[in-house]
Amino acid sequence: MAKFKEAEIRLLSKKVCMNCSATNSVRASRCRKCGYTKLRLKAKEIRKA
Ligand SMILES: [Zn+2]
Repeated sequence: MAKFKEAEIRLLSKKVCMNCSATNSVRASRCRKCGYTKLRLKAKEIRKA
């Protein structure tokens, strides 16, 4: 249980670029690939699987 939660937190601590879909650090203020400033948290993607 605890390990699952750790994995979940790891997934949650990513941001996905809304322009090129690159994953970025949650601390990133803009995409490391294209420089786009609109990033969303990856949280919602967990439920797809
Ligand atoms: Zn990007």
